[in-house]
Amino acid sequence: MRASGSDPIREAARLLAERRNAVALTGAGISVESGIPSFRGAQGMWAKYDPMEYATLHAFMQSPRKVWEMLTEMVSVCGFASPNAAHKGLAALEGMGVVRAVITQNVDGLHQAAGSRRVIEYHGSMEELICVHCWKRYLTRERWTPGAVPLCDCDEILKPNVVLFGEPIPWLAQEVAEEEARTCGVLMVIGTSAQVSPACDIPRIAKESGAAVVEINPEETSLSGNVTDIHLRGSASEVLRRILEEFSADEETPSSPSHKIK
Ligand SMILES: [Zn+2]
Repeated sequence: MRASGSDPIREAARLLAERRNAVALTGAGISVESGIPSFRGAQGMWAKYDPMEYATLHAFMQSPRKVWEMLTEMVSVCGFASPNAAHKGLAALEGMGVVRAVITQNVDGLHQAAGSRRVIEYHGSMEELICVHCWKRYLTRERWTPGAVPLCDCDEILKPNVVLFGEPIPWLAQEVAEEEARTCGVLMVIGTSAQVSPACDIPRIAKESGAAVVEINPEETSLSGNVTDIHLRGSASEVLRRILEEFSADEETPSSPSHKIK
């Protein structure tokens, strides 16, 4: 299904339009343009905080106040970020009935902020806090002030409801994500090389179940030329903008101008 000779963006848009059954798998790359650096990059959190010291469940249980130093920065970075054209593009495609779900490895809540309704958060969300003692959950914005360590009603320290190293992926999120992969017509892999387990299973499951895999990444990844059918090189926002342009070019009378993204 290689797009030889034709414009790969047009080819991808045609597939998406024909099948109307796409699922997106997103990672850090989609949020970079919103000012959230990838954890692993030179500007990332792990360059400053050793994840083994700051981001494991063990570390949190041992010294939650210390881990909250790092988390304070993470909450601030996520809290000030707003969705970019790529997040909005996926939400627009969902509104058009082209994309039916987003599986994300990000914890920034930007897909929901952009208007995506069906979002499967593999690694949880910074929007929520959870008590490791009684499991009560709270909205971060209602319970947390910068610099403070939030407490549960039961007086235990609250943890962001994100998956720390040493914690399993939420069982339900994993089940639902794999079901989406098995039943989608097109899997869009955006801003991730999907190397971290278990997200790495999603492209393979989709491919084996008959889906076309459209990859949107600026660089080659281990998926390119392997499970990827069409690799659209470029930033997530630019590529999604061009895909949406193909859709509006095809529709003689755009039924819903709100699909236009800024
Ligand atoms: Zn509690």
